[in-house]
Amino acid sequence: PGGYGTEGSLTLGDIFIAVKTTKRFHQTRMELLLDTWISRVREQTYVFTDEEDDALKRRMGDHVVFTNCSAEHSHPALSCKMAAEFDAFLASSQSWFCHLDDDNYLNPHALLKLLSSYSASWEIYLGKPSLNRPIWASETLPNNQTKSVRFWFATGGAGFCISRKLASKMVPWASGKNFLSTSELIRLPDDCTVGYIIECKVGRQLLPNALFHSHLENLQLIPSSQLTQQVTLSYGVFENKLNVIELSGPFSPQEDPSRFRSLHCHLYPDTSWCLQAVGW
Ligand code: UDP
Ligand code: MN
Repeated sequence: PGGYGTEGSLTLGDIFIAVKTTKRFHQTRMELLLDTWISRVREQTYVFTDEEDDALKRRMGDHVVFTNCSAEHSHPALSCKMAAEFDAFLASSQSWFCHLDDDNYLNPHALLKLLSSYSASWEIYLGKPSLNRPIWASETLPNNQTKSVRFWFATGGAGFCISRKLASKMVPWASGKNFLSTSELIRLPDDCTVGYIIECKVGRQLLPNALFHSHLENLQLIPSSQLTQQVTLSYGVFENKLNVIELSGPFSPQEDPSRFRSLHCHLYPDTSWCLQAVGW
């Protein structure tokens, strides 16, 4: 016993949860998360965005981080946010870093159960592999030559977690301005850069986990009976169709297009607006 992350002793308070968002999603996406899963883990959740917003600040207090990152979908802008998330985690005293997008539903207890089977004093990187094979990239060397590198990475859109021990080994490539310069070496998005640092620099590997989900997979294929055991879920458009989990209620697809409110009611039936929905 003793030391952080010792099996059986991990609590939600040991987990740093970072949510990446952008101004134009504060109302559409963040409100939904604040009403649902974030309301259950407000203490350990930090939101990283690109523009001041009083409404968001009112709900999250000092847990909203206004980065100076630009509000565009470019690799540098997104890497800037990932760097801010990583640095905030390093400055915290929590033992696990988990990144989420603003279209993810996180089940905190499923996450706690998963992380409890590891120790934060091991070098652990958990998530959903983005591809069924490693990605190849061309790394720019100091002499301007290039070298082919291959590595696995977890889709940022499904969420992923990194132990404190591994994060501390990533510091030379991932902290402060280093993250941006590292991502420039391979010219790939932020989640690829995380995988590249972990596999090609630190020498560890992604532990694939089937409990993380993004909207790049067919979410209808997850059996309804297993939805409450998943660590993350998502919603979005896939191949021109709405891609959401299959859940009958309590809310209709019109009232709850993402299905997150309905899922939340299955997990936390005592929520006031869930009781109203079923007419109690
Ligand atoms: N995002 C961002 N800045 C942007 C666009 C998106 O920070 O200019 C964030 C967004 O809030 C989300 C993530 O990046 O957390 C992924 O965006 P989105 O779901 O729109 O795109 P996807 O890559 O999933 O298709
Ligand atoms: Mn998305």
